[in-house]
Amino acid sequence: MDDDALLAEQLAYYKAGAAEYDRQYAEYEGLRKLLAVVDELPIAGDVLELACGTGQWTSRLAPRARSVTAVDASAEVLALARARTAASPAVRFVQADLFAWRPPRRYDTVFFAFWLSHVPPARLPAFWNTVAAALAPGGKAIFVDNGPAIAAEEEVLADQPAPAVLRRLDDGSEYRVVKVFHDVRPLTDDLTALGWSVRIRSMAGDFIGVAEPPRPS
Ligand code: SAM
Repeated sequence: MDDDALLAEQLAYYKAGAAEYDRQYAEYEGLRKLLAVVDELPIAGDVLELACGTGQWTSRLAPRARSVTAVDASAEVLALARARTAASPAVRFVQADLFAWRPPRRYDTVFFAFWLSHVPPARLPAFWNTVAAALAPGGKAIFVDNGPAIAAEEEVLADQPAPAVLRRLDDGSEYRVVKVFHDVRPLTDDLTALGWSVRIRSMAGDFIGVAEPPRPS
């Protein structure tokens, strides 16, 4: 697709910046408050976590779950996530490209934090189909991401194959990453149009969604 090079650059950014990634969790109180919300969410049973990164969320999902299968394409962030969750035997990691990976089984919960905004709009229907296919009957998708207010903190790029921002690492290297700042209302409407039942609430500049897929007819 047109956005292949952009998605490769996005992954390259996270691979090269793995060691810098956790700094934001130390620096931003809002992010730590958001992490604490996991305890209020209907996390249950066998959990699939998409784009787990360094395991910030994985380590909080594990005590609430029977098992956690956490997927990410970057070996660099997965190494940090493994170290963070070493005391949680029910966590397993899978290195895979989420734009190609298909879930081999169904889960009670599919969780993703700050991943939805990295999925190009043209790939969203397929993405939601994959999430639906990964859910067992009665299962829920739970997601956390940045809303439009956060765009002011980013260097938004024009004329890209998908909405994108420029990110810089400590060594000065620059990368384009996809960044779609979903608004709660249109995201709710889009998911509803795809047959999902969804509730999304805002928290500071971010949002937290809980969604159930269309029932098979
Ligand atoms: N969920 C974690 C969190 O909230 O801290 C990490 C989110 S981070 C914004 C995005 C993650 O997506 C990175 O860990 C990166 O390695 C991963 N990623 C990027 N492209 C990917 C792809 N094509 N397939 C799987 N993971 C990918």
